[in-house]
Amino acid sequence: MTKNISCADSGADCNWSSSAETEEQLLEKVAQHAKEDHPDMEITPEMVGKIKSLIKEV
Ligand SMILES: [Zn+2]
Repeated sequence: MTKNISCADSGADCNWSSSAETEEQLLEKVAQHAKEDHPDMEITPEMVGKIKSLIKEV
């Protein structure tokens, strides 16, 4: 089971997507991506909840 996320699903104009074995690993990749490409994005608890709701299992 792989977990997958697409940045565009959050409403961002961005074609980044990533996948990982676990939610923790995927959230780490999201945090890294946000730091590099969306420096204005604030990682609030609400944002983390929203990101988690966008994770798909494939
Ligand atoms: Zn992005």
